[in-house]
Amino acid sequence: MRTLREVIRNLVQLQAVDLEIKKIDEELAAASSELEAMRKSVADHQEAIAEYTARLEEGEARRKELEAAVEEAQAMIKDRQNKLMSVQTNREYQSLLKEIDDAKAANKEREDEIVRILEEAEYVQARLDERREVCEKEEKALAAAEKEAVDKEKKLNGSREKILKKRDAAAKKLDEKRLGRYEKIREVRDGVAVVGVRDGVCYGCYMNVPPQLYNNLLKEDALLSCPTCNRMIYYMPEPETTEG
Ligand SMILES: [Zn+2]
Repeated sequence: MRTLREVIRNLVQLQAVDLEIKKIDEELAAASSELEAMRKSVADHQEAIAEYTARLEEGEARRKELEAAVEEAQAMIKDRQNKLMSVQTNREYQSLLKEIDDAKAANKEREDEIVRILEEAEYVQARLDERREVCEKEEKALAAAEKEAVDKEKKLNGSREKILKKRDAAAKKLDEKRLGRYEKIREVRDGVAVVGVRDGVCYGCYMNVPPQLYNNLLKEDALLSCPTCNRMIYYMPEPETTEG
């Protein structure tokens, strides 16, 4: 029959091992969420680059269309101007003049639009260049981080496996009932099921335990629980201080 003190020591050992595992799991999760954030950022840049590129291509296509229309209209204007020399009636003359004026006005509008497109293209191109530069840097950083993460993960998983063996050994020292209680509390109390009580304070929830409970705790004849956080508690002596 194990003494309660032994049981508590075993529980504390198991708790320490489980906290090591928890820490490793948190490091693994942090590493992967960091990578996830980097990937997301690169993907956002790539999306913006694709958008800017599409806008430039659209503008370029529209500009070519407008330039072709301007040329066509210029040819037409030239043709009507030649015809002006040989018209017979004033009505015909006026009609040709109006055609020429209309075509010139339409070309003016097209040229204004071309200027707007070129200005927009300049703006978009600058944004695109900026994004490309940032994206390239982030892609390089991501590639390096991914490589690093592979090594880190390997190392962490290696330590995890070793610790799991330690955990098995620690768990075997406990009877099923207590181990079951430990697991249940651990699940609902953020991985911490066993905590010390020092100077009347539970080190799981940092609340005072009732004086009677504290007295019982000092006796070490039953495995007690904190009335506030329900964790298994044990008496933890004051740390020895080096001062005074
Ligand atoms: Zn507590």
